[in-house]
Amino acid sequence: MHDVIVVGGGPAGSKAATLMAKDLDILVLEEHLSSGSPMQCAGLVSDDVVRMSGVRPDVLNRIFAAEVHFPGGGTVAVRSKNALASLVDRKGLDMRMASKATDAGAEISYGDKYLGHSVSGGVVTVSTSQSKYSSKLLVGADGHGSAVAASLGDNAPKEYLRGIQVDVKDKPEHDDTMTLRLGSDLAPGFFTWEIPFGDCVRVGLCTSEDGVLPSDLLKTLLRRAGLQDKETVARYSGKVPLGGRRVTYGDNVLLIGDAAGQVKPISAGGLFPAFRSAPILADTAIEAIRTGNTSRKDLARYEGGWKKELGREFFRGYRIRRSFVKLSDADLDRICAVLGREDARNILDDIEVDRPGNVANRIMRNPCIAMRLLPTLLKAII
Ligand SMILES: Cc1cc2nc3c(=O)[nH]c(=O)nc-3n(C[C@H](O)[C@H](O)[C@H](O)COP(=O)(O)OP(=O)(O)OC[C@H]3O[C@@H](n4cnc5c(N)ncnc54)[C@H](O)[C@@H]3O)c2cc1C
Repeated sequence: MHDVIVVGGGPAGSKAATLMAKDLDILVLEEHLSSGSPMQCAGLVSDDVVRMSGVRPDVLNRIFAAEVHFPGGGTVAVRSKNALASLVDRKGLDMRMASKATDAGAEISYGDKYLGHSVSGGVVTVSTSQSKYSSKLLVGADGHGSAVAASLGDNAPKEYLRGIQVDVKDKPEHDDTMTLRLGSDLAPGFFTWEIPFGDCVRVGLCTSEDGVLPSDLLKTLLRRAGLQDKETVARYSGKVPLGGRRVTYGDNVLLIGDAAGQVKPISAGGLFPAFRSAPILADTAIEAIRTGNTSRKDLARYEGGWKKELGREFFRGYRIRRSFVKLSDADLDRICAVLGREDARNILDDIEVDRPGNVANRIMRNPCIAMRLLPTLLKAII
C-alpha cells in the first residue's frame, strides 16, 4: 500500500509529490504518456514562480513592458525596470518537474488514468485504466476537469473560461513587450494576449464559457493584430476554472492546483497558487499519515492554510472580475482615460503579475483616480 496516490503529473501534482516524497511513499498517476502534453498554458510566469517550481525551465523570452489596447483605440502602456514576467517552455517545465519528483523518490505511472476510488476503514482503493491501487491518502491534482474533485459531491468551480492560442511566425519591433487587448468583439469576459518569443508570437485569448466560440474570436484577434496571414506553427486550447470550488478536502482526499480551483481570477494564472499551496498540502499529508488521522475533519486544516495564504487575493480578484464582466466597451474606454493619467501610470508600473489585485487596490486608494473611476465602477458593482 502507498502512503499517497497523486492523480495528475502536471505541475501541481509533481510539486506536491516532490515535497511529500522525502517522508512518504508516493505514486503519481498520469493519464498521458508524458507530463506536459497537451500543453494548455501561455507559459507566462513571474521569477517567483520559476523559483518555486524547483527546476530551470527554458526561458523563451523576458517581458519588460505591456501595452493594453482598449476597445475605442486608447492604449495604456506599462514598463518596468525588472522583467514583468518570463515566457517559459511549459511542456519542458512539466517534464522537468516530473523528473524532479521521481528523483525525490516518487514513482510515476504514465498512461494510467484514474477512474474512481472508494474509502473504507481508512484505506483508499483507486481504480485506473491499468490496475487497482491502495493508499492512505488520495491527492487530486488532475486539472480543471478533476474527477477527484467531482468525487467530493457538488464541487464545480463558479465558472470556466475557455482559452485558445496559436504560435505564429512573426518578429515584432519590440520583442520585450506584450500586447493585451480588451473588448467585447475580441474576448468577452476576459482579455487577449500577444507575446513575442524568438521568431514567433504567441497569440491567444480567454473568454467566458457561454459566448462566441473562441476559435471565431481568435480569427478576429489575428486580423486586429495584423497576423492573419502569418504561418501558424502551434495551436493550443484549454479551460480555466475560476471562483474556487466549494471544498478542497474530503475523507482521505486533498485537492491542489486547477483541481482545487486555485487560479488567480484576474489573470487566470494557476502556477503561482498551486506552488504556494503545495507545501501546505505536503505538511498536512505528512502529519495526517504520521498520526493516522486522515478523516475529512483532520484534513480541514489544509483548506484553512492555503486560504490564509491566497484567500484574500482570490476573494478580491474574483470581486474585481465580477465587476469587470459587467463593464461595457464604453466603460472600459472611460477607465482607459483615467489610467492614462500620470499618477495612475506610476502605480501601474509597479504591477506584480502574481498579485494584480494589489495594484487595483492602490489605484482605488488614490482619491483623485478613485473619484474619476467611481461612476463607471459603481455601475459595475451595483
Ligand atoms: C489558454 C490558457 C493559458 C494559460 N496561461 C497561463 C499562464 O500564462 N500562466 C499561468 O500561471 N497559468 C496559465 N494557465 C493556467 C495553467 O495552465 C493551469 O493553472 C496549470 O496548468 C494548473 O496545473 P495543474 O497541475 O493543477 O493542472 P494541469 O496542468 O492541467 O495538470 C493536470 C494533469 O492531470 C492529468 N490528468 C487529468 N485527469 C486525469 C486522470 N483521470 N487520471 C490521470 N491523470 C489525469 C492531466 O493529463 C495533466 O497532466 C493558462 C490556462 C489556459 C487554458
